[in-house]
Amino acid sequence: TVRTRVAPSPTGDPHVGTAYIALFNLCFARAHGGQFVLRIEDTDQTRSTASSEQAILDSLRWLGLGWDEGPDIGGEYGPYRQSERMEIYGGYAQQLVDEGKAFVCYRRPEELNELRESRRAAGNSTALKYSDLALPADEVERRQAAGEPYVIRMIVPEEAGVCAVQDLLRGEIELEWSMVDAQILLKSDGMPTYHLANVVDDHLMEITHVIRGEEWINSAPKHQLLYEYFGWDMPVLCHLPLLRNPDKSKLSKRKNPTSILYYQRMGFLPEALCNYLGRMGWSMPDEREKFSLSEMQESFDIQRVSLGGPIFDVEKLRWLNGMWIREDLSQEQLAQRLVEWAFNAEQLAAVLPHLQQRMETLSDFAPQSAFLVSGELSLSPEQFTELGAETEQTLKTLQFALWRLEALQDWSRDAVWDAVKTLADSLDIKVRDFLAPLFIAISGSRASISVVDAMSLLGPDMSRARIRHAID
Ligand code: ATP
Ligand code: GLU
Repeated sequence: TVRTRVAPSPTGDPHVGTAYIALFNLCFARAHGGQFVLRIEDTDQTRSTASSEQAILDSLRWLGLGWDEGPDIGGEYGPYRQSERMEIYGGYAQQLVDEGKAFVCYRRPEELNELRESRRAAGNSTALKYSDLALPADEVERRQAAGEPYVIRMIVPEEAGVCAVQDLLRGEIELEWSMVDAQILLKSDGMPTYHLANVVDDHLMEITHVIRGEEWINSAPKHQLLYEYFGWDMPVLCHLPLLRNPDKSKLSKRKNPTSILYYQRMGFLPEALCNYLGRMGWSMPDEREKFSLSEMQESFDIQRVSLGGPIFDVEKLRWLNGMWIREDLSQEQLAQRLVEWAFNAEQLAAVLPHLQQRMETLSDFAPQSAFLVSGELSLSPEQFTELGAETEQTLKTLQFALWRLEALQDWSRDAVWDAVKTLADSLDIKVRDFLAPLFIAISGSRASISVVDAMSLLGPDMSRARIRHAID
């Protein structure tokens, strides 16, 4: 039976690209009566967080992209979180060392830098191989005896030539072996790299089709070689085109919001976002623009994917979302959605502590809370100049705040406050003056609840988007 998977790394906000890849894997599995697996690739313990994982699971589920096996629901092939499978990988790396297909590498970081530097100086841009990295036997023994750290690297062909990889959509892809390096499989702390863990898990989880982003094509020769070394059947590979900004560059958060949470916060319907992602490089046999997830699953044929980079255009998404609102929701359903989205008990409980003190009548509620349930605000330059500071200074303040807040992982009120306070102090600006332009960017006026409270209520995605919008 067909088994597909999506394998996100929980290192940041849930990306629309992850949902796009998940959608195509899900549809492919369903079209073939197979199973769809969610696996969390959290071998990078320094960058992975539990909250990011939770946000990915919640976002995919919000979009209706449920899985048959995964870290939260288990399954026959579990565990589905790589950090819980750590004892599995070392043995496979050792097996390759024993068979002469991988080697223990005691090279120190400064030696690696030197090696790379001297090759760069010599105009040599090919990858580092075993013969470049090998140390004399007595040196290996010395470093081993001294207990120096080591990694396990795979041995890759050193002769010139091409590696041919089959891709379901692209046919045969040829990649030069000279560009393939002696990839680290096991790091010095005993943790596997993506490449080892990914191949081992796809095999153990009996994944038959690896459908993933184009960015992984260059890794395919290493993966193919690992399957050969282990003597395992390789799943069918299929690399989907990456999503692009309207200017054709790779979708990036500097040009377009990429977090699913932003689209949720903007009030897009999950059905519409899912529909739009289905139109990324794919179309229904009858070319209709609006279709549901189950319709997509029924008509899915991966050969209908076109390889030209699909453009993720928020304006187009708005248009489609409008069609869903007008055509697919009854008035009762729309009312229900609105209540859930803006006026659910949890949301009101978070907002009212800030507003109750400022209210004289119930009718004060709507104007005072409007900015919390709005999308991007329409601001005028005058709102900022009225603050009295030079425009350049205001822009600089907003830009610094944005940089700082983009790096902020913990979005609790206190963490946001700490971040802006420390930044204002380090710039030698009074906090009040520092916050003034942020007030306008976030709330659209100066007469609102504290901007730090507002940011914590709005969440990181909408807050950052509003500051970015104010700068633009
Ligand atoms: P970077 O700018 O460093 O590439 P990013 O915005 O691409 O960062 P990542 O954390 O690298 O974000 O990616 C998160 C997930 O989203 C990955 O699974 C990746 O495959 C997917 N992804 C990122 N960009 C795209 C894209 N343009 N199209 C499709 N999927 C993408
Ligand atoms: N963990 C990888 C990612 O974040 C998975 C890539 C793959 O599907 O092989 O995209």
